[in-house]
Amino acid sequence: MAIKITDECINCGACEPECPNNAIYEGAVDWKASEGTELKGTVTLTSGLTVDADAPQEPVSDDVYFIVTDKCTECKGFHEEPQCAAVCPVDCCVPDEDHVESEEELLNKKAFLHGE
Ligand code: SF4
Ligand code: SF4
Repeated sequence: MAIKITDECINCGACEPECPNNAIYEGAVDWKASEGTELKGTVTLTSGLTVDADAPQEPVSDDVYFIVTDKCTECKGFHEEPQCAAVCPVDCCVPDEDHVESEEELLNKKAFLHGE
């Protein structure tokens, strides 16, 4: 399943550079599907959301760092474990029970994001 960041986040920023999909953003920052991926033009993401890959999207949180679910593969295909959870000093990167995905689905998402 995807990982989410809870409101216990202390905004330290340690997780952001560790994400292989650029799925992590600082609070109140617009995100883009194209950042850290090979996505171009109009794309339909795993959730069914259709966006222009280069168009800025509304932040998921205005207060703390957040993870874009459609870009999180739980690090599958890159690392053995979620890198954000591994570096977070307050353990607030946790499984998102609302977005449960199988390993196969996560690997397919990784392939979709990176044009493989
Ligand atoms: S689990 Fe991996 S892919 Fe998902 S947000 Fe954390 S670092 Fe990024
Ligand atoms: S590492 Fe943890 S506390 Fe630091 S910004 Fe990321 S989620 Fe927040």
